[in-house]
Amino acid sequence: MVKIGTHVSSSKSLDLVFDRGKEISADTIQFFLSSPRSWKWKERTEEEKALFKKKREETGISPTVVHASYLFNLASKDKELRNKSIKGVINELKLCEELKIDFYVIHAGKSKGLDEKKAIKNIVDSVKIIFSEIELKHTTFLFETLAGQKGEIGKSIDELVNLLEPFEMEKTGVCLDTCHIYSAGYKINEEEGFYRYKEELDKKIGLENVCVIHCNDSKTPFNSRRDRHEHIGEGSIGLKGFQLFLNDDHFKKLPFILETPKEGNWDLINMERLRNLIEAPVAQ
Ligand SMILES: [Zn+2]
Repeated sequence: MVKIGTHVSSSKSLDLVFDRGKEISADTIQFFLSSPRSWKWKERTEEEKALFKKKREETGISPTVVHASYLFNLASKDKELRNKSIKGVINELKLCEELKIDFYVIHAGKSKGLDEKKAIKNIVDSVKIIFSEIELKHTTFLFETLAGQKGEIGKSIDELVNLLEPFEMEKTGVCLDTCHIYSAGYKINEEEGFYRYKEELDKKIGLENVCVIHCNDSKTPFNSRRDRHEHIGEGSIGLKGFQLFLNDDHFKKLPFILETPKEGNWDLINMERLRNLIEAPVAQ
């Protein structure tokens, strides 16, 4: 069974992510550990953590994915911002480990005035500090593929290779975002472009190190370098791209997580659209 789910709100109490996931029949969920646009960090009570684990058990929703705060910039030339980001990631990762979260997804960083080589070095050095502070046993640390807007690092497979190379692959990996890779210039909505992308990914990173797929259509045209998510089938990618991922022998084993606009009952519609694209196995 292909696992399909969505990003859910974690407001009020963390355990509510499972109630919210269950309400829409999500097989898998993603959420933030704190407000993604605030630096404030809130320590969680033992009670809340226990309730989180209990509800995960009860609902069977799995895997669980945490998305890092949007404020972090591990590439920044501003040392204070970089240090704040490192501290923020450590807080989040520690909680991920405690809660036995499967995957932690982060936007590696933005170069903003730095050349890309230096930006990548800053990210790698920051992650080395993070890994020296916390030993990952349960959670895999994933760099997300980005569209490349405003100097984002991680827009090409080669950039991801540079980010991952210094680390043990058991601890790290990649989260694909369909909108971002399309906006970054990979034509994954046509068979030729899809298989070319998959082949390059396998050759340079290894498909086994791709762990999560963010499933979003794109509001902007191909190669726009813009990060604007659209409902499935309503954007420039179109249903074909999702059909290719959902029926691919390798990718279909991964969790597919929607990050489409939260309006009305669109989560249900988008999940239904994805499920409808899954082809029935051919009888032998
Ligand atoms: Zn993201």
